Amino acid sequence: MALTGLAIFKHLPKTNCKECGFPTCLAFAMKVAAGQEGLDSCPTMTDEAREALSAASAPPQKLVKIVGPNGEVAVGQETVMFRHDETFHNPSGVAIQVLDTLSDEELKARCQAIKGLTFHRVGTDISVDLAAVKNDSGDPAKFAAAAKAVSEQTELPLVLISDDAAALEQAAQGLGDAVKPLLVPSEGALEATAELAKTGKYPLCVTNDDLEALAGLSEKLSSGVPELVLSPGELPGPKVIEFLTMSRRAALKKKFRPLGFPALVYAVDSDPAKAAIRASSYISRYAGIVVLDTIEPWAVVAVLTTRQNIYTDPRKPVQVEPKLYEIGSPTDSDPLLITTNFSLSYYSVEGELTAARLSARILAVDTEGTSVLTAWAADKFNPETITKALNDFEADKAVKHHKVVIPGHVAVISAGLADESGWEVLVGPKEASGIASYIKNDWKA
Ligand code: SF4
Repeated sequence: MALTGLAIFKHLPKTNCKECGFPTCLAFAMKVAAGQEGLDSCPTMTDEAREALSAASAPPQKLVKIVGPNGEVAVGQETVMFRHDETFHNPSGVAIQVLDTLSDEELKARCQAIKGLTFHRVGTDISVDLAAVKNDSGDPAKFAAAAKAVSEQTELPLVLISDDAAALEQAAQGLGDAVKPLLVPSEGALEATAELAKTGKYPLCVTNDDLEALAGLSEKLSSGVPELVLSPGELPGPKVIEFLTMSRRAALKKKFRPLGFPALVYAVDSDPAKAAIRASSYISRYAGIVVLDTIEPWAVVAVLTTRQNIYTDPRKPVQVEPKLYEIGSPTDSDPLLITTNFSLSYYSVEGELTAARLSARILAVDTEGTSVLTAWAADKFNPETITKALNDFEADKAVKHHKVVIPGHVAVISAGLADESGWEVLVGPKEASGIASYIKNDWKA
């Protein structure tokens, strides 16, 4: 039974020191009761109080860590059903499947392809997090060799999938003591693999397409294996969505502990586009880990982009620092483009300039991270705010032509901006995709 905020409050130091980030101990207690904060955020809590509270106030979904040779992936510990209620905390892990039936050369090529699945989007590198090695050969030695090679070549944490507990043991132990892959046995190999997970402290995935049966298994195993992941196995897409939604709801809304673990699902399809659509749907619907078998960059980037969008914090707009940016090597005759400091707006403009190898300056006006039209509608992107930015960042010292290019969507402010700033105002294209051709064809200093 979960504790109330007042019950938790009784155990707190009651000094209102604010070190937890909340103004009072009571405010912190209410957040812990709602499953939105952990006890670790209060550094002055006594050990006795922590012990008394830890079981009852544990987050409704467990955090699971999969450790690789060069870092770890943490999934789970989510506290809300809907992103806009707060935020989603630990991004879904995206895994690429590698079969142990590949030849050495094929395996090497696949590992290189996996390593290359890193993309730069809105100022951040997004990449694949895990490799999922599957024992298709049925040969434990071949599986162990493939796992070791994938671990060394990708340096990613691993998901190990096999019908054979002995094969999982050989593969996991071959990675060294510090590496803790996620073990994914078939139903028949679960009991023996659970023993291995207990002694070796490996996270364990329990698979069953029946939610009730899965809850029964996880309840039985969770006392001995601290880190569990739940999976419905390879089911049709709608069934997977149903599984993800029902297990998340049971864990978060009903505080049903046996289902309070992250979920692993498969988006395996011979058509990479369908695999990407399935994976993106699962990520938007609570998947903890998604296993893909495609290495097509265009399909993987779609999945990673979905994840990046869903796991941004809706309470904090994704923004760049408001300032005057130089793209390429601009002279004082190159264009000065105006946009907002919303990351997507800024990087859309920057990306188009960079791709076309054009030099220019971008003035990112502080609109509290809102996009051009949103900021204009909220009166944050207007002649006054743009003029202030031009003055604050001394744009007149950077260019000699005294011209600014504003987004076509806000053409309506051009006359007002010209009056307010004294600059000549040119109306650029509505979309960033038109910027390169606008500069090449229409810009004159
Ligand atoms: Fe209270 Fe602990 Fe937060 Fe300080 S850090 S305000 S003692 S809950």
